[in-house]
Amino acid sequence: MRVIRSVRSIQQFIKKAKLAGKTVGFVPTMGALHDGHRSLLRRCRRENDIVVLSVFVNPGQFGPKEDFAKYPRREQTDKKLAKKEKVDIMFLPSVKEMYPGGYLTYIDVEKMTRVLCGKSRPGHFKGVTTVVGKLLNIVMPDTLYLGQKDAQQAAALTRMTRDLNFPVIVKICPTVREADGLAMSSRNQYLTERARGEAAVLYRSLKEGRQSVIAGNHSVTAIICKIRSRITRESSGRIDYVECVDAGTVMPLKKIQGKTMIALAVWFGKTRLIDNIIVHA
Ligand code: AMP
Repeated sequence: MRVIRSVRSIQQFIKKAKLAGKTVGFVPTMGALHDGHRSLLRRCRRENDIVVLSVFVNPGQFGPKEDFAKYPRREQTDKKLAKKEKVDIMFLPSVKEMYPGGYLTYIDVEKMTRVLCGKSRPGHFKGVTTVVGKLLNIVMPDTLYLGQKDAQQAAALTRMTRDLNFPVIVKICPTVREADGLAMSSRNQYLTERARGEAAVLYRSLKEGRQSVIAGNHSVTAIICKIRSRITRESSGRIDYVECVDAGTVMPLKKIQGKTMIALAVWFGKTRLIDNIIVHA
């Protein structure tokens, strides 16, 4: 595995690989790698000649009061995991390498980034689309691998690649969960023992919501109500949102129909957790 920190070096490497006819798969992350990231890397390994993993804690996607400074950084353990998963290139740029002085250019996917997490994290998705747009220009992958766990992010990035004609295929991989159903996340390690126990209610409540839709309940209000009351009953979590949206556009639905995503964000102390589930109605 090669560890590359400069944009120039990785671009040179990729150009050579492409001239030699190799396919390139790309998994962008913020590190503190876990089994969720690992599942993306495995699929990428199976489907490509060259696997590129980036680890970059992107300041552009954190709000001023968010956890940029304390976000877990685990370079050594991440390297070990990447080697184990047979990553070819681990790209570890510095903030200065990605945003040199005088930086002024941003990518903003409108509308779909203003709902759900976009409401409580203004500017977050603009940071995400900008950095991933830059990374796509740097890595020039044939295929980009993203996780369903961050569904709104995946939807916005898919929209961006289509709108801006990035020559890349986007593949979205299923959410990997802990044994009790909690979606794996680098932020789970912030949780107190008590909150960690309680947080399993998120997936339990989403499954209950899905069951209710399958049983014929197509009322958005009723489903949201069911989920909210279960979370409130069974945990100390503070609900940011619970919503039923179109799974493709992530825009809110009036009535549950077609491929629907039930999505939520809940605070446990200072940690905000998100999760979602898909149901076909
Ligand atoms: P992050 O490092 O949290 O920015 O995530 C990097 C990529 O891994 C994103 O595409 C995430 O959606 C994906 N990912 C994170 N957690 C999971 C999970 N539990 N299951 C599947 N994919 C995940």
